This record gives sequence, C-alpha cells and structure tokens, in this order.
Amino acid sequence: MPIRILDPQVAAKIAAGEVVERPASAVKELAENALDAGATRITIETQGGGLGLIRVTDDGQGIPVLDLEVALERHATSKITSEADLDALSTLGFRGEALPSIAAVSRLTLTSRARGQEQGAYVRARGGVLERQGAAGCPEGTTVLVQDLFANIPARRKFLRSEASEASRIHRAVSHLALAFPAVRFQLIQNGKEAFLSSGDGDLRRVLAQVYGDEVADALLEVRGDDGEGRQVWGFASPPSLHRANRSGVSLFVNRRWVQSPMLLQAVEEAYRGLLMEGRHPLACLHLGLPPGEVDANVHPTKQEVRFSKEGAVFALVQRAVRGVLTAQSPVPLVAPQSFSRSIPPMYPFSPPPQSGKPAAAGESALRLIPPRQPEASRPVGTPGDQTPMSQALPTLRVLGQAAGTYIIAEGPQGVYLIDQHAAHERIRYEQVQRGVKERQPEAQGLLEPLPVELSHEQLQTLAAWKEVLAGFGFQGEPFGERAYLLRGLPAGVKDLPPDALLAEVLDLLSRAQDPTQAADALAASVACHSAVRAGDVLAHQEMAALVRQLEATESPHTCPHGRPTMLHLSSSNLEREFGRR
Ligand code: ADP
Ligand code: MG
Repeated sequence: MPIRILDPQVAAKIAAGEVVERPASAVKELAENALDAGATRITIETQGGGLGLIRVTDDGQGIPVLDLEVALERHATSKITSEADLDALSTLGFRGEALPSIAAVSRLTLTSRARGQEQGAYVRARGGVLERQGAAGCPEGTTVLVQDLFANIPARRKFLRSEASEASRIHRAVSHLALAFPAVRFQLIQNGKEAFLSSGDGDLRRVLAQVYGDEVADALLEVRGDDGEGRQVWGFASPPSLHRANRSGVSLFVNRRWVQSPMLLQAVEEAYRGLLMEGRHPLACLHLGLPPGEVDANVHPTKQEVRFSKEGAVFALVQRAVRGVLTAQSPVPLVAPQSFSRSIPPMYPFSPPPQSGKPAAAGESALRLIPPRQPEASRPVGTPGDQTPMSQALPTLRVLGQAAGTYIIAEGPQGVYLIDQHAAHERIRYEQVQRGVKERQPEAQGLLEPLPVELSHEQLQTLAAWKEVLAGFGFQGEPFGERAYLLRGLPAGVKDLPPDALLAEVLDLLSRAQDPTQAADALAASVACHSAVRAGDVLAHQEMAALVRQLEATESPHTCPHGRPTMLHLSSSNLEREFGRR
C-alpha cells in the first residue's frame, strides 16, 4: 500500500483511543473543561456506567456562539497559544483533544451560553461529523451530553468491564476531582441516584469525609510544608494506626492535577518507614504546589503522568512534611547503638567467607569495613595492593545518591562507598561539640523559660559531682527545692529529645564515668547522637555533599563516636572481580 495521510475521521478515532480510554476518562475530561471554565458547581449524570449517557453541566464562563463549532475540531483550544505556554500551564486542559476525541466515538451535544450573552447555542455531532446546530435557551454555563459512547468502535466496548465497574471508576474519578478542588461543588448522579456530593465550601477534610467516611477523615493528620523555594505541600495523612492493604488510599495532586507518580508515592511511603508493618500502606491526600515550569504534564494524553524537573527537592519536601507530622505525633523510637550489626551477612553480592585453613586475603570480600577493625591475630596476611590505605584521611568523594533514606552512596577514586548518614554526622557533630567545649565556647542555647526537672537523689548527686563538666557543655541551672533542678540552658542542636529527657540521659552516662575525660567524651557523644541527622531522613543532594565534605575534614572519619563504622567500601578492583571482569 502506498503511504497516505489518514482521513481526519480515522485519525480522530485513533487519538480518541488514547484520550478517552473508558467512560471515566470522558467524565474526567469534561469535568476538567468545566473547572478550566471557572465553574463552581458541576453536575455529572451517567447512565449504564457512562456507556448509555454522560451529561456534565457547569456554571462556568461558557463558550461564545461563534466558537462552539470550533471547539469540536482537533487541536482547538482556548488555553494556550504558543509553545512557551506549555512551560507555564495553569489549566488542566491544553491539548485541544478531549471534545473532538469524545465526539469521534459518540453522539455528542455541546450546549453553552457564554457569560453575559442573551442566548445560548448548541452543536451536535455523531462520530465526529457535525449533524445539527442552532440556538438554545439555556442558563449561563455549559452542558455536554455524550450518548452511545464507543457504539461505533465495538472493539473498545468489548474491552470495557461491566457497567458497575465502569460506574465505580467514574465515582473514583469524580471523587478525586472533588479532592483536587474542594471549593467546587461536585454532584454525581448515577442511574438517577445521587452517588456523590461535595459541599464546595473549600474544606478538604470535609471532602475526605465524603470519600472515606467521617471516622477516617477525623483521624487524619494535617500536613503542611514549604521549602522556601516556591514549593508547597498540604493535605492530610493517616496516623500510623490507620492503614490499608494497598496503595489506593494515597491520592496525590500536583497543581490540582490528580497524578500517578511512583516517585511521590515512594516519598510518602518513605515517611512511614519503620512505622507501618510490612505490606501495609498509609492513607493520604496530598496537594503539591509547584512552580508550573518545574512540572511537565505533557507526557501522556491523559495527563495523569507528570515529570518533575526538581525531583529530589519534591521528594524531600513530601517526605519531610509527612515524616514531620508523624514524628510530632508519635516519636520515632531511637535505635540503640548495640542493635546495629557490624557483621556483614554472607550473601550475594558478598564473597563467601574464607575457607578454613586458608589465610583470608583482605581483597576477597568486595565489601569491607573501613578501617578493617579485626583483632591483630585475624588480620589478613598477604594483603593485596588494592587495599584501602590505612591512613585516617578519606579520599575525595562524590555523592551519587541516597539509599533507604539512610545511606549516602558516594564514589571515590578507589570505588564506591556507602556512608551511614547518622553515624557520619554523629562523628562530625562529636568533633564540633568537643571543639566548642575545648575552646570554652560551647554551642549552647538558653531556655525561654526555666524548666523545673524532677530528679532522684542519686541524679542530683551525679549532677553536683559533674557540675563543671556539664557547665562546659552549656548545661545551666540550679537546684530547685529538694528534689528538682531548674534547667536554664542546654547544648544546642539536640533535635529528638526534650530538655528533661536529655538531662536524664546525660546524668545516667555521667554516673558511670570514671574521670573528667571520660565524662566529657560520653557527654559529647550523647549530644552528637541527638543532634545528628537520623536514619530515614531523606537528604537533598547538597546536604549529602556538605555532610561528606565535613566528614572528610574530621580527625577520625571512619568511625562514629560509639565505634561503629561510618562507611563501607566496595573497591573497584573487587567489584571487577565480583562481576568477572578480570
Ligand atoms: P482543551 O481542554 O485541551 O482546551 P478540549 O477539547 O477539552 O481541549 O476543549 C476545547 C475548548 O472548548 C476548550 O479550550 C474551551 O475553550 C472549550 N470548552 C470545552 N468545554 C468547555 C466548558 N465546559 N466551558 C467552557 N469552555 C469549554
Ligand atoms: Mg479539555
């Protein structure tokens, strides 16, 4: 067959397949047009799961009589005029495809009266071909009536599910539009019965109550975040006690557009790390307000998929905002240092443990602690030349990313490094705190109001015994009555413990100290631990780069103050060996 340009009607039918996959997509497109027209009330009626009839009525600005016919043409839109407009979209529609696509696969009647006009008009098309048009007596706003959807493409009709299933997809689409636009009143009538109604009073929690019920809506926690760079997140997320077996309870909106974004979904789930049981998922309804230039909605005809130009920043904003409310309401338990394992599990991609009787070569394991902290006797003999230098200095590292919200992945001249962000930051903070104390300029903060802390007799004794050391760290105050202490100041930067809990922990540590040096070490380690970033905190690239640079500048970059390694090293030569490259 020779190559020919497709007949416009055939082309429209093909395009229609992408935009209007099923009745719910037609409903979504029509309602989005109403929203773009500034409607505050939108009524959606359907029959037979949308296959019999869909009618969307709005009180928006309407379409001028002369534009009615054009609205059904392909690529006809009033929303953008130039390519540059694509970079700053403020409307849901912009492709000029919905009306012609729906018209191509149904019998469509578009009736509208533009605001301020005396009279309205209508156009009717069948299979995309204009049949009738004329004047119409109608209120201001627009009504689109779609009948016999997909009647002229039996293949598509066959592919659709039952009427009930299509009806429930429509319900889902409408409820998500209502979640996206709480200030718009949405009414859905299916087979003559009201199936959904939102009040349109602007209260998102009230819409959530419509969707999930009062009990769930009441339990949801309010989320709010702003990164100070023009990106905001707001909405609701479930407390850890409320969860679901799948991810369908997470609804995400970007600039009011309901999106499917694995990245955003992951950011939300990341915030619940360690708070939900395996296999359980949170409920959330989150809105993201991003500079339009950072979002590309022009990825797919249905516009449900979006691309972000600042993915990392968006991820961090969402993860932090949600994590913030979750921890504020149920503090994350601190991981005790001893629960960290220092052993390397003998599984792929790690090398099998060395055969007994044969001296182990350090180079045999691709993954190795830095520095190897084996006792002298078991230290490998005959170490190959590719071993990491034993000196304390770190090579210059380039940050590649973050894994599990916990490990910074970096690259150096000799391979790949996994850095435990908490351990590394602890080391940095430990040396900073010690320096401050040594220079008699501790990082301290005064309390706005002195805090009375009840202490046991023993604790008061410890406090008296280590008074100087405590003062050197910025702990200030005085005894208060018989059994209490009036705390006035404490070391700065402690994020995860209230002042009284910090004091209690510190006194416990001091009670076991033998001499002032030991006492000061224990204090510095404790303050460092509580002021360091935690495992699970998602970090922005610059933050990780700054952390690695600071770690490079420390005196003992390889271990945290408790002696845990700050990093693991996968040496280039061992990687090559593991992958059979040499
Ligand atoms: P798009 O939404 O991408 O512009 P559509 O095919 O969905 O493309 O609609 C074409 C045009 O018809 C819109 O740009 C708009 O001017 C007009 N239109 C469609 N529906 C409505 C409505 N409910 N109210 C006002 N104008 C509408
Ligand atoms: Mg549209």
